[in-house]
Amino acid sequence: MDPKVEQFMAKIKAKNPSEPEFHQAVHEVAESLIPFIEENPRYKHAKILERIAEPERVIMFRVPWINDKGDVEINRGYRIEMNSAIGPYKGGLRFHPTVNLGILKFLAFEQVLKNSLTTLPMGGGKGGSDFDPKGKSDNEVMRFCQSFMTELYRHIGPNTDVPAGDIGVGGREIGFLFGQYKRIKNEFVGVLTGKGIQWGGSLIRPEATGYGTVYFAEEMLKVKGDSLKGKIATVSGSGNVAQFAVQKLTELGGKAVTMSDSAGSIYDPEGIDAEKLAWVMDLKNIRRGRIKEYAEHFGCEYFEGKRPWHVKCDVAFPSATENEIDKNDAETLVKNGCMVISEGANMPSSPDAIEMYLEKKILYGPGKAANAGGVAVSGLEMTQNSMRLPWSREEVDSRLQTIMKNIHQTCVDFGTEPDGYINYVNGANVGGFVKVADAMLAQGVV
Ligand code: NDP
Repeated sequence: MDPKVEQFMAKIKAKNPSEPEFHQAVHEVAESLIPFIEENPRYKHAKILERIAEPERVIMFRVPWINDKGDVEINRGYRIEMNSAIGPYKGGLRFHPTVNLGILKFLAFEQVLKNSLTTLPMGGGKGGSDFDPKGKSDNEVMRFCQSFMTELYRHIGPNTDVPAGDIGVGGREIGFLFGQYKRIKNEFVGVLTGKGIQWGGSLIRPEATGYGTVYFAEEMLKVKGDSLKGKIATVSGSGNVAQFAVQKLTELGGKAVTMSDSAGSIYDPEGIDAEKLAWVMDLKNIRRGRIKEYAEHFGCEYFEGKRPWHVKCDVAFPSATENEIDKNDAETLVKNGCMVISEGANMPSSPDAIEMYLEKKILYGPGKAANAGGVAVSGLEMTQNSMRLPWSREEVDSRLQTIMKNIHQTCVDFGTEPDGYINYVNGANVGGFVKVADAMLAQGVV
């Protein structure tokens, strides 16, 4: 390891103990940025890297609520306001039992660079709770969301901090959260994104992350004179990102053959076509069932407790959660001829998996670039809320495509190596950093 990176990481670890995901995210970025900062001393003297690794503000709070049996339950809520140099804090809320401070800090840190890459004026933040919506009734989810917002409302606002969804927070949760904010503040404003279409939401927002990650893969392939047409793809997850990744992939002529959830994966060699995907959407978004039921219904293979990376593919879209591809999975993917990894999820690949992609020089789109379509359309939702004027589906989709193309180009500009290989990791990290760093320099030591 570069001794400068080692020194920097030793301080980060000492200051933020027991936060392995945060260390992992900062380390990956430091590897790209420290050599760049050495060549650009203005960032070094102003300690920009040290400053972006320190949240501007961390809020932690108690979330008490009453379950259907009448018992009191207590969860912990968080909001990390990481960086506001280029706009209001912006980033999702995650409701999942694994949520803790370190995970949200990693997500908030990634979000700062991701939001900068979108070219839109958004700072970075992230939040959530260790609440598990799985197995809860709609009323329980509503009471939890109302209690969560009863504290969060005082820290957010359309010009301050604009949360959105993430794992476990979809349209239903955003509705309950928005309703409570409006009730407390007596204001109908764009304080959350991912809202319903009848009450301030944007068309294409639900689709945006999945579509964006597929557009990004298409851009990566275009550089090689290739496309997604006829490609076999493995997709993990079966939530918001995975569903729309499968949809767009199919529209562009590719074939998605896997989906998964935390219990296991299905493998459908015939492909998950539009009709089967509609069935998955009903299963996951309405009936809230398990992906295993797909295998039972359509008569295909199901791998209990397994991720889908052993299935042969040309392209992989990890779209479930962090560290879902380890070194062995990466080895298997490469060995099976996978040529593109486009990350729908945040940090789904472990550091040694990434090392393998770069060593084998495959096309690797890291999450902060490849999944930025979601927050980009959230930014477009904020614009429409400010104008009080909605855009058509075509308008939003065409803006999304342009943004994904621009992000890809930024990665090419900052990440192309002397032999022509595009290192999208360096490209995204440096490309995202420069705008935030210059804004911080201009605003002084704050
Ligand atoms: P959802 O909650 O809609 O879906 C998550 C999916 O991943 C589910 O199928 C879930 O299975 C699975 N999953 C979650 N945790 C685990 C785990 N520990 N092990 C195995 N499978 C797991 O979330 P999203 O689709 O919104 O988010 C997926 C990823 O994309 C996350 O990394 C998120 O941060 C990232 N992302 C999301 C954006 C968005 O706009 N929603 C934007 C950018 C990134 P199960 O139901 O069994 O838990």
